[in-house]
Amino acid sequence: MQPIHELYAQLAGAPRRVVVTMHQKPDADAMGSTLGLCHFLTQFGHQVQVISPTNWARWVDWMPGADAVLDYELHRAKADECIAAAEWIFCLDFNHFGRTKSMAGALKQAGAVKILIDHHEQPDEASFQYGISLTGKSSTCEMVYDFIVASGNRDKINKSVAECLYAGVVADTGSFRFSSTGASVHHMVAYLKEMGLEHARVHEDLFDNYLENRLRFLGHVLTNRMEVMYELNTALVYINRNDLFKYDIKTGDTEGIVNYPLSIQGIKLVGFIVDRDEIRKWSFRSKGNFDCNTFARTYFGGGGHFNAAGGSDHDTLEKSIQKFKKALLENQHLLS
Ligand code: 5GP
Ligand code: MN
Repeated sequence: MQPIHELYAQLAGAPRRVVVTMHQKPDADAMGSTLGLCHFLTQFGHQVQVISPTNWARWVDWMPGADAVLDYELHRAKADECIAAAEWIFCLDFNHFGRTKSMAGALKQAGAVKILIDHHEQPDEASFQYGISLTGKSSTCEMVYDFIVASGNRDKINKSVAECLYAGVVADTGSFRFSSTGASVHHMVAYLKEMGLEHARVHEDLFDNYLENRLRFLGHVLTNRMEVMYELNTALVYINRNDLFKYDIKTGDTEGIVNYPLSIQGIKLVGFIVDRDEIRKWSFRSKGNFDCNTFARTYFGGGGHFNAAGGSDHDTLEKSIQKFKKALLENQHLLS
């Protein structure tokens, strides 16, 4: 993988066909970084198509350009055509093709120059010709901002770019509270404000955009589906299919619930499992020195960041919870 600065000179060159893509079930950082980059690149005359491997939450639908994003599972033929014809494919907020579900084969085969911009652990560098991977960065949105500024194009940060990038930074920093929120994040936000960013509106669009059923679901989950294991400083939250059906839970409605148990005194680790579609999906969050990335990778074929990671399991909900509890005992020395 060559350093990304080698691309800067080509940005203002001949217009190119570009695909910008992200991980499956994109969150605000994935959708914000891809759309932010899209609004930047189109200003040079490039023809840009943003593709998501799957559907996404309704609370990112407000982002400028979200209505033109292709859902690979719904528009596969058109998306495959764009991927095959692309000269550049930007891969944002993920670092190995496995994170794009059924799109992975098309990405692997594509003849385009593939470019990585990402902040997750352990990138598959061999799959990309150019790129930048910085695990200390708050968000991929901050990295797209750095890319724009370092390439000498700060003046191209318009209101659309600013809104998209700000949303991802807010989401991935837990609204500026995680330790990844460096001074650079606040400098970035100051500049976005100068460019006309209405930050209060973005917070409302992200966090005050649920339906009533989601709040009632949250109450049900915290009351009936949370197990606190004080001896291991760990909490488990589990959601079965009946819960999802009863409360009409859609993609994105479970986002953020994993964080609630961390507010209990002494809790260092939260495991959150949802029995969804063909797999059981795990989310892990920790405080301090418990490494969620290694934990998710070791026990649930996943990965992510040190304090926030995910994985999955093909076993039943009950068996997967048993596996989690066994894994906790193996890691007891790290949790006490
Ligand atoms: P979440 O729990 O919000 O789905 O994900 C937390 C972090 O871990 C995110 O940065 C996400 O991209 C990453 N992540 C979630 N699931 C997986 C997975 O199955 N594999 C890998 N490599 N990363 C994941
Ligand atoms: Mn991210």
